[in-house]
Amino acid sequence: MLVCSLLLALTSLHSIAAAEKANVNVILWFDTEDYLLPADDDATKRLAEMLTQRGIRATFKLVGEKARVLERRGRRDVIAALKKHDIGYHANFHSVHPAPSEYLADCGLLDGIAEFARREGGGAADVRRILGVKTLACYGQPGSSWASQTIAALKEIGVAPHGVPCYVDEGTHIGLNEQPFWYENALVVYHMGQNYTRMDLHDPAAVEPAKQKVSAIADRLRGQGGGLISIFYHPCEWVHKEFWDGVNFRRGANPPREQWKPPPQRPAEETEAAFKRFAEYIDHIRSISGVQFVTASDLPGLYPDAARSEGASEADLNQIAVRLTESKISGADFQVMGDRAYSVADQFELLARAVGELVEGRKPRFPLQAIGLLGPDGPPPLTAEATHIDWFAFRDATRDVIDFVKTRQRIPSRVFIGADAVPPADFLVALAFAYDYYRTNGKLPLEGGATLGKNLELLPARRVAKDTPDLFGGWIIHKEGFRAPKILEVARLQAWTLKPAIQKD
Ligand SMILES: [Zn+2]
Repeated sequence: MLVCSLLLALTSLHSIAAAEKANVNVILWFDTEDYLLPADDDATKRLAEMLTQRGIRATFKLVGEKARVLERRGRRDVIAALKKHDIGYHANFHSVHPAPSEYLADCGLLDGIAEFARREGGGAADVRRILGVKTLACYGQPGSSWASQTIAALKEIGVAPHGVPCYVDEGTHIGLNEQPFWYENALVVYHMGQNYTRMDLHDPAAVEPAKQKVSAIADRLRGQGGGLISIFYHPCEWVHKEFWDGVNFRRGANPPREQWKPPPQRPAEETEAAFKRFAEYIDHIRSISGVQFVTASDLPGLYPDAARSEGASEADLNQIAVRLTESKISGADFQVMGDRAYSVADQFELLARAVGELVEGRKPRFPLQAIGLLGPDGPPPLTAEATHIDWFAFRDATRDVIDFVKTRQRIPSRVFIGADAVPPADFLVALAFAYDYYRTNGKLPLEGGATLGKNLELLPARRVAKDTPDLFGGWIIHKEGFRAPKILEVARLQAWTLKPAIQKD
């Protein structure tokens, strides 16, 4: 009895210690975008400096035109204050039409990537040059102007080989458990749900409830073993009465540069009061035990992708194959094993490489590394009637798949078995079948051939939002009722690449 309660006490002590050790991180980010109201330059500088004085680094996502305006106005002081922080990117002109979702609404994956790089690449280069940074820490979209092609294009608008590694914003187009995730090989902070919070800057009654709310989120995350809290503002919120872009580009309006108007400004005492409240809010957050501020540049270190950097062990690949060959499997999903997460694309790439080696008479060498593919650039064909393929047809299809993946670095939208095209998800099951057969029999299924999946659902695609009138049309800059269903179709195909980001202990 005594031993029992002692054990119980020890166990609870242990879990208290574990909870106290659990890291709760706060990413504080500022969409720095108002290039019309000069007072925004001063607000930006003051925010950057007040955080620096507190030893806090935030993430400032700059609009290309905002960086150019700071340069033109000779605001070296603002640039110097910003340089103490993390610098991200927030589109070239933000709300000048067409905005990203507008010009990507009818694009597929590849032309969309190229178009985003063409329109936004120059602004990214300007922000890098003016702020004097080698790499931009992250990108995030203007308003609700989201598209998966922009995330896939982050490699193109950054500096080789990694480009812009992270996507940081808030919205509901895609999400995974209200914590960071991997999507199209970028580390994404998005759709943070109950882990996203902010305080109303201009309401004196908002301070206490906002402090309590962020403390409650930190407590909950600590109890779950740690996690990330996302808080964002725009420096212009301290000084304007209305957003700069709402004044000019509302609901599709597109006046020429010569007619752009600065937004109405708040009286100085309201700005002062907002800075005071914000300082109180930030001081409260940094007083919460175990909570620390992180930036977008910290994210890749906090969420290493062990499946990518270290590779898959033989035990992991065996387990991947076993799950994919379970009878009655109706869908493929990401799989998490220990500190490694494998997207459906990772599973496809790893199994194709392992089976490819076996087909050529070699043994796969572990750990097996995945380079990270994109999802397919088009919808799959209809599932095949027959699920059985003979060995030689399977072998030749596997060789073709390996060549495709190596050349294009994405999942093929169809896999040819001779003259017939089958969905890549169904072929993934055949790869798993062949690998599992080898594992249990010590040889490939030369006599029996392989078994395709039948109509396998890509389960992570369920994490992409349904098209609703507000999803894109809710942003005041898009035209009333603006819809972009094709952006969501393309995004669902890229769900091949979706998997949770696992926080390092
Ligand atoms: Zn913005």
